[in-house]
Amino acid sequence: MGNGGRSGLQQGKGNVDGVAATPTAASASYQYRCIECNQEAKELYRDYNHGVLKITICKSCQKPVDKYIEYDPVIILINAILCKAQAYRHILFNTQINIHGKLCIFCLLCEAYLRWWQLQDSNQNTAPDDLIRYAKEWDFYRMFAIAALEQTAYFIGIFTFLWVERPMMAKKKPNFILLLKALLLSSYGKLLLIPAVIWEHDYTSVCLKLIKVFVLTSNFQAIRVTLNINRKLSFLAVLSGLLLESIMVYFFQSMEWDVGSDYAIFKSQDF
Ligand SMILES: [Zn+2]
Repeated sequence: MGNGGRSGLQQGKGNVDGVAATPTAASASYQYRCIECNQEAKELYRDYNHGVLKITICKSCQKPVDKYIEYDPVIILINAILCKAQAYRHILFNTQINIHGKLCIFCLLCEAYLRWWQLQDSNQNTAPDDLIRYAKEWDFYRMFAIAALEQTAYFIGIFTFLWVERPMMAKKKPNFILLLKALLLSSYGKLLLIPAVIWEHDYTSVCLKLIKVFVLTSNFQAIRVTLNINRKLSFLAVLSGLLLESIMVYFFQSMEWDVGSDYAIFKSQDF
Protein backbone atom coordinates (compact mmCIF):
# COMPACT_ATOMS: atom_id res chain seq x y z
CA MET A 1 0.00 0.00 0.00
CA GLY A 2 2.80 2.35 0.88
CA ASN A 3 4.40 1.70 -2.48
CA GLY A 4 2.05 4.13 -4.19
CA GLY A 5 3.73 6.94 -2.35
CA ARG A 6 7.16 5.43 -2.54
CA SER A 7 7.19 5.56 -6.34
CA GLY A 8 6.71 9.31 -6.15
CA LEU A 9 9.76 9.69 -3.99
CA GLN A 10 12.79 11.09 -5.64
CA GLN A 11 15.94 11.38 -3.70
CA GLY A 12 17.05 14.29 -5.80
CA LYS A 13 15.46 17.63 -6.37
CA GLY A 14 11.87 16.45 -6.56
CA ASN A 15 9.15 18.96 -5.85
CA VAL A 16 7.66 18.38 -2.44
CA ASP A 17 3.94 18.94 -2.19
CA GLY A 18 2.44 20.64 0.80
CA VAL A 19 5.67 22.17 1.92
CA ALA A 20 3.92 24.78 4.03
CA ALA A 21 2.38 22.04 6.15
CA THR A 22 5.64 20.29 6.92
CA PRO A 23 7.83 21.56 9.73
CA THR A 24 10.58 23.84 8.58
CA ALA A 25 14.15 23.23 9.52
CA ALA A 26 14.41 25.19 12.72
CA SER A 27 17.52 26.64 14.22
CA ALA A 28 17.44 24.16 17.10
CA SER A 29 19.86 21.42 16.17
CA TYR A 30 18.91 17.75 15.94
CA GLN A 31 15.25 18.06 16.66
CA TYR A 32 14.25 15.45 14.10
CA ARG A 33 14.94 11.74 13.77
CA CYS A 34 15.71 9.49 10.84
CA ILE A 35 12.66 7.27 10.52
CA GLU A 36 14.75 4.35 9.26
CA CYS A 37 17.57 4.16 11.81
CA ASN A 38 16.44 6.56 14.58
CA GLN A 39 19.56 8.72 14.12
CA GLU A 40 19.06 12.37 15.07
CA ALA A 41 18.83 14.82 12.18
CA LYS A 42 19.06 18.58 11.89
CA GLU A 43 16.50 18.95 9.12
CA LEU A 44 14.04 16.95 7.05
CA TYR A 45 14.67 18.81 3.80
CA ARG A 46 16.73 21.68 2.56
CA ASP A 47 15.13 24.62 0.82
CA TYR A 48 17.28 25.86 -2.03
CA ASN A 49 16.33 29.01 -3.87
CA HIS A 50 13.60 29.07 -6.55
CA GLY A 51 11.46 26.59 -4.61
CA VAL A 52 13.83 23.71 -5.15
CA LEU A 53 13.68 21.39 -2.18
CA LYS A 54 15.86 18.43 -1.46
CA ILE A 55 15.01 15.72 1.00
CA THR A 56 17.82 15.28 3.49
CA ILE A 57 19.66 11.97 3.36
CA CYS A 58 20.58 10.36 6.64
CA LYS A 59 24.34 10.30 7.28
CA SER A 60 24.09 7.02 9.10
CA CYS A 61 21.89 4.83 6.86
CA GLN A 62 22.07 6.77 3.56
CA LYS A 63 18.27 6.74 3.21
CA PRO A 64 15.94 9.77 3.23
CA VAL A 65 15.60 11.04 6.80
CA ASP A 66 11.79 11.16 6.49
CA LYS A 67 10.23 9.98 3.26
CA TYR A 68 6.76 10.52 4.77
CA ILE A 69 6.96 14.31 4.53
CA GLU A 70 5.85 14.04 0.93
CA TYR A 71 3.32 11.27 1.53
CA ASP A 72 -0.41 11.68 1.73
CA PRO A 73 -1.72 11.67 5.34
CA VAL A 74 -3.98 8.71 4.48
CA ILE A 75 -0.97 6.61 3.48
CA ILE A 76 0.82 7.61 6.68
CA LEU A 77 -2.25 6.60 8.65
CA ILE A 78 -2.43 3.22 6.89
CA ASN A 79 1.25 2.66 7.65
CA ALA A 80 0.60 3.58 11.28
CA ILE A 81 -2.33 1.15 11.42
CA LEU A 82 0.03 -1.52 10.09
CA CYS A 83 2.24 -0.63 13.08
CA LYS A 84 5.25 0.31 10.96
CA ALA A 85 8.01 1.74 13.13
CA GLN A 86 8.88 4.29 10.41
CA ALA A 87 5.38 5.77 10.46
CA TYR A 88 5.48 5.94 14.25
CA ARG A 89 8.83 7.75 14.18
CA HIS A 90 7.50 10.20 11.59
CA ILE A 91 4.43 11.03 13.69
CA LEU A 92 6.19 11.17 17.06
CA PHE A 93 9.48 12.86 16.19
CA ASN A 94 9.01 14.75 12.95
CA THR A 95 5.55 16.27 13.23
CA GLN A 96 3.98 18.54 15.79
CA ILE A 97 0.72 16.64 16.24
CA ASN A 98 -0.84 17.93 19.41
CA ILE A 99 -4.13 16.10 19.69
CA HIS A 100 -3.17 13.55 22.34
CA GLY A 101 -5.11 15.34 25.11
CA LYS A 102 -8.35 15.57 23.17
CA LEU A 103 -7.88 12.08 21.78
CA CYS A 104 -7.44 10.71 25.30
CA ILE A 105 -10.70 12.31 26.49
CA PHE A 106 -12.52 11.06 23.42
CA CYS A 107 -11.19 7.50 23.86
CA LEU A 108 -12.25 7.54 27.50
CA LEU A 109 -15.72 8.68 26.45
CA CYS A 110 -15.88 5.76 24.00
CA GLU A 111 -14.86 3.35 26.74
CA ALA A 112 -17.31 4.87 29.21
CA TYR A 113 -20.09 4.54 26.63
CA LEU A 114 -19.24 0.87 26.05
CA ARG A 115 -19.33 0.08 29.77
CA TRP A 116 -22.48 2.12 30.24
CA TRP A 117 -24.14 0.28 27.34
CA GLN A 118 -23.21 -3.08 28.84
CA LEU A 119 -24.53 -1.92 32.19
CA GLN A 120 -27.88 -0.99 30.63
CA ASP A 121 -27.99 -4.44 29.09
CA SER A 122 -27.55 -6.16 32.43
CA ASN A 123 -29.87 -3.85 34.40
CA GLN A 124 -33.62 -4.25 34.28
CA ASN A 125 -34.80 -1.35 36.40
CA THR A 126 -38.34 -0.88 37.62
CA ALA A 127 -37.88 2.53 39.29
CA PRO A 128 -39.85 5.59 38.08
CA ASP A 129 -38.76 7.29 34.83
CA ASP A 130 -37.12 10.39 36.33
CA LEU A 131 -35.13 8.34 38.74
CA ILE A 132 -33.95 6.04 35.94
CA ARG A 133 -32.85 8.99 33.81
CA TYR A 134 -30.92 10.49 36.70
CA ALA A 135 -29.38 7.15 37.62
CA LYS A 136 -28.38 6.50 34.00
CA GLU A 137 -26.63 9.85 33.71
CA TRP A 138 -24.82 9.23 36.97
CA ASP A 139 -23.87 5.75 35.72
CA PHE A 140 -22.19 7.27 32.70
CA TYR A 141 -20.04 9.62 34.80
CA ARG A 142 -19.16 6.74 37.09
CA MET A 143 -18.11 4.61 34.10
CA PHE A 144 -16.02 7.50 32.77
CA ALA A 145 -14.23 7.87 36.10
CA ILE A 146 -13.60 4.13 36.32
CA ALA A 147 -12.29 4.00 32.74
CA ALA A 148 -9.98 6.93 33.52
CA LEU A 149 -8.67 5.27 36.69
CA GLU A 150 -8.04 1.98 34.89
CA GLN A 151 -6.23 3.80 32.10
CA THR A 152 -4.12 5.62 34.70
CA ALA A 153 -3.27 2.31 36.38
CA TYR A 154 -2.23 0.90 32.99
CA PHE A 155 0.09 3.85 32.36
CA ILE A 156 1.51 3.75 35.89
CA GLY A 157 2.30 0.05 35.37
CA ILE A 158 4.16 0.81 32.15
CA PHE A 159 6.04 3.80 33.55
CA THR A 160 7.01 1.99 36.74
CA PHE A 161 8.41 -0.94 34.79
CA LEU A 162 10.36 1.33 32.44
CA TRP A 163 11.64 3.44 35.33
CA VAL A 164 12.93 0.35 37.12
CA GLU A 165 14.44 -0.97 33.90
CA ARG A 166 15.98 2.33 32.78
CA PRO A 167 19.61 1.18 33.34
CA MET A 168 18.89 -1.46 30.67
CA MET A 169 18.07 1.22 28.13
CA ALA A 170 20.32 3.35 25.99
CA LYS A 171 22.68 5.82 27.64
CA LYS A 172 20.24 8.66 27.06
CA LYS A 173 17.66 9.47 29.72
CA PRO A 174 14.23 8.18 28.63
CA ASN A 175 11.82 10.93 27.65
CA PHE A 176 8.72 10.00 29.63
CA ILE A 177 6.71 13.05 28.49
CA LEU A 178 7.11 11.99 24.88
CA LEU A 179 6.28 8.43 25.90
CA LEU A 180 3.02 9.54 27.50
CA LYS A 181 2.11 11.44 24.35
CA ALA A 182 3.00 8.37 22.26
CA LEU A 183 0.88 6.10 24.44
CA LEU A 184 -2.11 8.44 24.27
CA LEU A 185 -1.81 8.82 20.50
CA SER A 186 -1.35 5.10 19.92
CA SER A 187 -4.54 4.33 21.83
CA TYR A 188 -6.57 5.72 18.92
CA GLY A 189 -7.88 2.18 18.26
CA LYS A 190 -10.36 2.71 21.11
CA LEU A 191 -12.36 4.93 18.78
CA LEU A 192 -13.46 1.67 17.11
CA LEU A 193 -15.40 0.75 20.26
CA ILE A 194 -18.29 3.00 19.28
CA PRO A 195 -18.99 1.42 15.85
CA ALA A 196 -18.48 -2.03 17.40
CA VAL A 197 -21.21 -1.27 19.92
CA ILE A 198 -23.56 0.56 17.56
CA TRP A 199 -23.54 -2.20 14.94
CA GLU A 200 -24.20 -4.82 17.54
CA HIS A 201 -24.08 -8.42 16.36
CA ASP A 202 -23.16 -11.91 17.53
CA TYR A 203 -19.45 -11.22 17.30
CA THR A 204 -19.39 -7.96 19.25
CA SER A 205 -17.43 -9.48 22.14
CA VAL A 206 -14.87 -10.90 19.70
CA CYS A 207 -14.59 -7.45 18.07
CA LEU A 208 -14.02 -5.82 21.44
CA LYS A 209 -11.25 -8.31 22.25
CA LEU A 210 -9.63 -7.66 18.86
CA ILE A 211 -9.77 -3.90 19.45
CA LYS A 212 -8.04 -4.44 22.79
CA VAL A 213 -5.31 -6.48 21.12
CA PHE A 214 -4.89 -3.79 18.45
CA VAL A 215 -4.58 -1.02 21.07
CA LEU A 216 -2.02 -3.07 23.02
CA THR A 217 -0.02 -3.76 19.85
CA SER A 218 -0.01 -0.05 18.98
CA ASN A 219 1.09 0.81 22.53
CA PHE A 220 3.83 -1.80 22.33
CA GLN A 221 5.14 -0.33 19.09
CA ALA A 222 4.87 3.24 20.45
CA ILE A 223 6.98 2.36 23.50
CA ARG A 224 9.55 0.57 21.34
CA VAL A 225 9.88 3.49 18.94
CA THR A 226 9.83 6.31 21.51
CA LEU A 227 12.48 4.86 23.79
CA ASN A 228 14.32 2.92 21.07
CA ILE A 229 14.30 -0.25 23.15
CA ASN A 230 14.06 -3.89 22.15
CA ARG A 231 10.83 -5.84 21.69
CA LYS A 232 11.21 -7.82 24.91
CA LEU A 233 11.41 -4.75 27.16
CA SER A 234 8.51 -3.10 25.36
CA PHE A 235 6.42 -6.27 25.64
CA LEU A 236 7.15 -6.58 29.35
CA ALA A 237 6.27 -2.90 29.84
CA VAL A 238 2.84 -3.43 28.25
CA LEU A 239 2.43 -6.59 30.32
CA SER A 240 3.14 -4.74 33.59
CA GLY A 241 0.66 -2.07 32.55
CA LEU A 242 -1.94 -4.76 31.92
CA LEU A 243 -1.18 -6.38 35.25
CA LEU A 244 -1.77 -3.18 37.22
CA GLU A 245 -4.88 -2.44 35.15
CA SER A 246 -6.24 -5.93 35.89
CA ILE A 247 -5.67 -5.41 39.62
CA MET A 248 -7.65 -2.17 39.34
CA VAL A 249 -10.43 -3.91 37.36
CA TYR A 250 -10.55 -6.69 39.93
CA PHE A 251 -10.79 -4.12 42.72
CA PHE A 252 -13.63 -2.24 41.02
CA GLN A 253 -15.50 -5.44 40.26
CA SER A 254 -15.16 -6.71 43.79
CA MET A 255 -16.58 -3.38 44.97
CA GLU A 256 -19.37 -3.93 42.40
CA TRP A 257 -18.70 -0.53 40.87
CA ASP A 258 -17.85 -1.81 37.45
CA VAL A 259 -19.38 -4.20 34.94
CA GLY A 260 -17.26 -7.01 33.54
CA SER A 261 -16.64 -5.32 30.21
CA ASP A 262 -15.93 -7.58 27.23
CA TYR A 263 -13.26 -5.08 26.24
CA ALA A 264 -11.22 -5.75 29.37
CA ILE A 265 -8.71 -8.59 29.27
CA PHE A 266 -9.61 -9.39 32.83
CA LYS A 267 -13.22 -10.19 33.67
CA SER A 268 -14.27 -11.87 36.86
CA GLN A 269 -16.71 -14.68 36.22
CA ASP A 270 -18.76 -14.39 39.38
CA PHE A 271 -19.96 -10.87 38.73
ZN1 LIG B 1 19.06 6.88 9.03
